[in-house]
Amino acid sequence: MIITTDSQKNTYSSYHIAKAFFPNEEIETQIKEDGEDPRSLYLRLRKETGRDLPWGMLTGVRPTKLAMEKVKEQMPLEEFEKWFYENRFVSKEKADLAYEIAAKEEKLIKRTGIIGEDSFSLYVNIPFCPTICTYCSFPSGAIADYADVMEEYLTCLFSELAAVSVICEKKKLTSIYIGGGTPTTLTPQQLERLLSEIRNHFHTDGVEFTLEAGRPDTITREKLLIAKESGISRISINPQSMQQKTLDVIGRRHSPQQIEEAYALAREEGFDNINMDLIMGLPGEDLKDVEDTLIKIRKMRPDSLTVHSLSIKRTSQIFSQTTDAQTVEQMLERAVAFARSEGMEPYYLYRQKGIAGNFENTGWALPGKECLYNILIMEEIQSILAVGAGASTKRLQLEGGLQIKRSHNVSNIKEYLTRIDEMIRRKQELFS
Ligand code: SF4
Repeated sequence: MIITTDSQKNTYSSYHIAKAFFPNEEIETQIKEDGEDPRSLYLRLRKETGRDLPWGMLTGVRPTKLAMEKVKEQMPLEEFEKWFYENRFVSKEKADLAYEIAAKEEKLIKRTGIIGEDSFSLYVNIPFCPTICTYCSFPSGAIADYADVMEEYLTCLFSELAAVSVICEKKKLTSIYIGGGTPTTLTPQQLERLLSEIRNHFHTDGVEFTLEAGRPDTITREKLLIAKESGISRISINPQSMQQKTLDVIGRRHSPQQIEEAYALAREEGFDNINMDLIMGLPGEDLKDVEDTLIKIRKMRPDSLTVHSLSIKRTSQIFSQTTDAQTVEQMLERAVAFARSEGMEPYYLYRQKGIAGNFENTGWALPGKECLYNILIMEEIQSILAVGAGASTKRLQLEGGLQIKRSHNVSNIKEYLTRIDEMIRRKQELFS
């Protein structure tokens, strides 16, 4: 499909609007004097398909950013719904969601008082997984392929951590997030060394400290014990689906029962803030599968739930969405009803390119169980120092107007090992 747009600056928006209407089409954009601007393109595609998109012509990844501005201006909800529709054709339902989340974020941020240059959060990337999920677009490697460089990876990571502790010695640490990948692919001894390295370099007492433990086949009592003793306050065990046929199709190589067992083990070890991730629109799933998954999740009662819509990127093994937008919408409705019936509230939201039905990913949590780091990464109100392959560091500067500068570590794991000095130097320069 060829889309003609009126200027270079509108190419991105026009491309993503067309892609949202036709997710499985190859879209080419051409610039012509009589090309359309994004608004007229949206209106034409809406007329031709007879469909509205839930987020209208909004193409960015953070719809709550606009809502946040209006919440700060104290715009009432009804006025915001009208404004969001007139400006971006966003549906009432999505406008309400964005507004509710923005109001919640605003409250949480005010309560913690973390905006500014005096504080920071730390992200640690462990880019290894037991197997690679077919939908995955992260630059993660299967542990079997990287077993021989694990130790070297940790050595590099530790030198980055040491450098970051010097860069941030005058700043207060707000939150730590160990993600990936699946950090619990580390052996108990490696995990213990990583956590003690973090504790040696940073003041972690009272700090929100998350460990992604996404795959249940990597969770053992020993690792949970180490995590608990090292001050991890929140873990994430991610079923994505509780259907065996789906787990097989997406290459997870574990069973729903292993998820239940890992979850029970984590509760036994005293974790009182457990998140679970689910994905709507996984290959071969219908509404009944999602309903059954939610029944099984209800029995476990996690403290928070992140509901994703399947996003397909060029780097994933599967190439196209197989679930129609209407079905994904119904799946999301079931997940939302479930989260609300459990007493959870939405607290952060983001969108991705190639997302199923042009919907969104939403974090739900019981009051008091929200993950501050998730808000910070979305709202860009604090510097995030990130270590490990593929990690992205962000410096927030307020002097002379808000500026955000970034430094990206290389994603390729082996390249990261050989270029570690450069990764450290880039960070030092960013904060000099
Ligand atoms: S567990 Fe997560 S990071 Fe690892 S392969 Fe699957 S989706 Fe990717």
